[in-house]
Amino acid sequence: MTARILDGKALAASLRAALKATADGLAQRGLQPGLAAVLVGDDAASQVYVRNKIRACDETGVRSELHRFAADAPERAVLERIASLNADPKVHGILVQLPLPKQVNSERALAAVAAQKDVDGFGAENLGALLAGRPGFVPCTPAGVMRLLEHAGVPLAGRHAVIVGRSTIVGKPMALLLLQKDATVTICHSKTARLADLTRQADILVAAAGRPRMIGAQMVKPGACVIDVGINRLADGTLAGDVDFSPVRDIAGWITPVPGGVGPMTVAMLIENTVRAAAKSVAARA
Ligand code: NAD
Repeated sequence: MTARILDGKALAASLRAALKATADGLAQRGLQPGLAAVLVGDDAASQVYVRNKIRACDETGVRSELHRFAADAPERAVLERIASLNADPKVHGILVQLPLPKQVNSERALAAVAAQKDVDGFGAENLGALLAGRPGFVPCTPAGVMRLLEHAGVPLAGRHAVIVGRSTIVGKPMALLLLQKDATVTICHSKTARLADLTRQADILVAAAGRPRMIGAQMVKPGACVIDVGINRLADGTLAGDVDFSPVRDIAGWITPVPGGVGPMTVAMLIENTVRAAAKSVAARA
């Protein structure tokens, strides 16, 4: 069997086109959606991620602003900027690019973003809403994975989903979203014993560990849907996912490539959340 490729690049492009129509409609009513990105320091990967997000804003009619701070910027300066962005009616979404330098506490920075502008969905209010099954902003990467699964018609109800990784921004919200769709969910992590025994049971396998090519073909059940969230920069400068793509493609039913799978969907979900935040602010004013 050769797996069907879940083409996140193509799906994200069609989502962006639809979002542009909505953003343009809002702009005609005097409310162009606006996203503010807060970038502290000069981490190379973070700069690339923020650049991609700003480019996606430009393509979709979302106004963007970049708030850059030096690597040694004091936490107070970052928190004050977030407070002023919270109060700015032209800004509907605020993203704080992670990781932050050590003098800026990430929990405090994320908590400083107003819940209605927390388009990354990393704040306690939005994470709590996800846990409780209430509407809110869902973290963009797991939200993008769900869109890919839905678009491909991958069956979820009653299926076993195994997630490798338990971070608050990917693994845990991914588990909650799959649970909402009636999958039976197992979360694995760095202390999990006999990982391969678990991954081999997965109908849906989500790899989000940040370990290049750690998921080999022998860890995958034939016909499974394999979602590769990992983005790992190798010593030679190339990118690799957490899945050993070529051999796994030969036995999986569906697979996402890296790049071109989950990454573009993450960015599309960020734009969608920003457009939604703008639309909600109109509703709140009306
Ligand atoms: P993280 O470092 O916060 O979490 C990694 C998780 O993997 C941890 O829970 C850890 O216990 C687990 N883990 C690590 N090694 C393991 C092992 N050998 N076996 C089992 N579990 C193991 O990372 P994160 O922020 O969740 O990101 C994970 C990966 O996804 C990274 O490569 C990151 O770059 C990538 N990422 C991609 C996107 C995207 O848009 N595609 C978005 C966010 C993160």
